[in-house]
Amino acid sequence: MKYKNNEFFIDGVKLEKLAKKYSTPLYCYSYNKIKENIKYFKKTFKTINPLICFSVKSNSNKVLLREIGKLGLGADVVSIGELMKAISSGIKPKNIVFSGVGKTPDELKYAINKKILLINAESKSEILEIERISKIYNKKVNIGLRLNPNTDAKTLSQISTGKKENKFGISEKSILELIEYIKKCKNLKLRCLSVHIGSQILDHRPYEKTLNVLERVLRKSKFNFEYIDLGGGMGINYSDNKKKLNLRKYCISIRKFLKKNKSKIIFEPGRSIIGNAGILVSKITYIKKGNKKNFIILDAAMNDLIRPALYNAKHRIIPIKKRNKKTNKIYEFVGPICESTDKFSTIKKFQELSQKELIIICDVGAYGMSLSSNYNVRAKPAELLVKNSKIQVITKRQSLKDLI
Ligand SMILES: *Cc1c(COP(=O)(O)O)cnc(C)c1O
Repeated sequence: MKYKNNEFFIDGVKLEKLAKKYSTPLYCYSYNKIKENIKYFKKTFKTINPLICFSVKSNSNKVLLREIGKLGLGADVVSIGELMKAISSGIKPKNIVFSGVGKTPDELKYAINKKILLINAESKSEILEIERISKIYNKKVNIGLRLNPNTDAKTLSQISTGKKENKFGISEKSILELIEYIKKCKNLKLRCLSVHIGSQILDHRPYEKTLNVLERVLRKSKFNFEYIDLGGGMGINYSDNKKKLNLRKYCISIRKFLKKNKSKIIFEPGRSIIGNAGILVSKITYIKKGNKKNFIILDAAMNDLIRPALYNAKHRIIPIKKRNKKTNKIYEFVGPICESTDKFSTIKKFQELSQKELIIICDVGAYGMSLSSNYNVRAKPAELLVKNSKIQVITKRQSLKDLI
């Protein structure tokens, strides 16, 4: 994804052409970028040979799931819907792990009968429910226990999951008791200790702290886990500053950990696989001149991309056609929805813009379309995949007829 002669191209296709043909707002993904991200992830962790389960909640498009599965990844799901989508996209149940604090009996039944790799349980009540169901079906169920390591991921508070005040996982003390309990259940097979401390993590030290807690639990429990599931959360670079998670250092710490504890590592990355592989193209409906700033009113809104409104997340905005003429005005890029948080970014020194022009919101591959809604009775956008210059509509634009 780059400019050629000041025009934006995605895998060799001129983006403006796509926007004109398929209309806006429009999500576009680069197959090559996804492939590159997966290759990089595998290469970084090659020495520990992990099972990589793509976090389906970050992007649950079936065509993308199929491609990601073909590139060798399993899936991490958090609902029966995601589990069904992953399976129907060709991802094998033996490469699927199921996380979440509130799996219902129906969800558990389905997962148990599909014989997925792991149900990562998050409470004693859930273990009791799994045990009850496993007896009804006379099935042996593979269990992971999700530890709450009480470590601060140093990320946005809204996407932090590993502190004791968060609803996720089981405390160190309760996990030791649960391990003893599960050992006595003949239908449950305890195979994994799992963690996931949060999302968009850019500092490797919280991961190191988590490994220390895992090590302590393993030492105290004296239980041999076949798998250690380290979750996802690897952050990506949303801005021009070059702050980057040091995956290499993380890998070194894991190798040190594995010297004492011989287990297979599982990862559950979402954002780091798909985040920078997607963009959202939007058309300027109006430009409204204000006192101190000009509002660039887009046809995309918080229903298409809610991250800025929900987490105060920052996404770069760039023009589809680069021009040299910069303006001194402050531009505030907003959507048309009747909420003051329907606002993407405020930018100084952008190039001069005009009505009907197209702009690009960057790095929206993760938690973009998957968090979209129909708020304000707005139809959801279309999604395109560009693969080696071939264009595939992977989600049709929703029609108003569907909604009304
Ligand atoms: C959301 C989630 C992930 C993926 O997080 P990313 O930040 O997208 O890598 C992994 N595991 C669990 C349990 C999750 O809830």
